[in-house]
Amino acid sequence: MNRIRRTEAVCLRSARHRETSKLVTLFSPDAGKLVVLAKGARRPRNKFGATLEQFAVSKVIYYWHQERTVYIISDAELVHAFPGLTLIPGRFLAAAQIAEFLLRTLRSHDQTSSGTAVQHYPQLYRLTLAYFDVLETATGGFPALVGSFLLKAASFLGFRPELRRCLRCRKPISDADAVAFDPERGGVLCSKCAPYTVAVPRAGEGVRRTGQMASDALRPRNRWGPTAQYGSGVKLTRTQLATLSRLLYSPGAEIAKALPDEERLDRRAAGSAGETDCLTLILTFVSLHLDPLLLNSFNWKSL
Ligand SMILES: [Zn+2]
Repeated sequence: MNRIRRTEAVCLRSARHRETSKLVTLFSPDAGKLVVLAKGARRPRNKFGATLEQFAVSKVIYYWHQERTVYIISDAELVHAFPGLTLIPGRFLAAAQIAEFLLRTLRSHDQTSSGTAVQHYPQLYRLTLAYFDVLETATGGFPALVGSFLLKAASFLGFRPELRRCLRCRKPISDADAVAFDPERGGVLCSKCAPYTVAVPRAGEGVRRTGQMASDALRPRNRWGPTAQYGSGVKLTRTQLATLSRLLYSPGAEIAKALPDEERLDRRAAGSAGETDCLTLILTFVSLHLDPLLLNSFNWKSL
């Protein structure tokens, strides 16, 4: 049974298909991840124009079919193209990381009729366009912007990290002199509840080299230690906690205007023993809860 459907969508990936067509993966706020075939889209002067380029936002018309997972797209009208994203490599790579995250975590069209996460797809869609908009004029701070997007996107998908209260005793964390972050349980632990901490290998280094999964890297080395029953926490300084809070709660445009101090944010901050940088923490957190392969598909160093 064919049904004509219309939706607005952003293009996450566009691939060649045979001689003249394109196979395009879209994110639509009401249809989720949508894979469409655009026949003739690679012919000169085709009707699709720039509508199916990566990151372009378009209004599309497609033929939905109950027994198919790839639908034929019949028409598309460009809404916004984000041309600035391709002018600086950092912008493009940051937007590509966001697209990669969405490709891995969004559900496809026929699965979106149930589930709580999909109810937040309209918010996630607006978040995506808002961050593409910020990235389009950004000249630096790309890791902070992508990290901020990941924290907010994970929240919409049902995994908002607890940064304000201790996961175990529920006391407000702001006055604690030392805290830990437990990526597996998704939040912070106060100094009383997290006496045992363990360093996480940086993404793309120890993890990729040894082929470990994120959950292996995070397991306490002494599994029979005093806090094994509460899981492990990664050491987190107060400055790092403030940075994570800012990335989660501040709008992208504000983060772009006043970027977090690089020393607080990236791998250079993880100099002393037992410390892990904020970006690795974020990536470990989203990988554990949303897709383990994210840990290896992200490359902060390229940003
Ligand atoms: Zn506590």
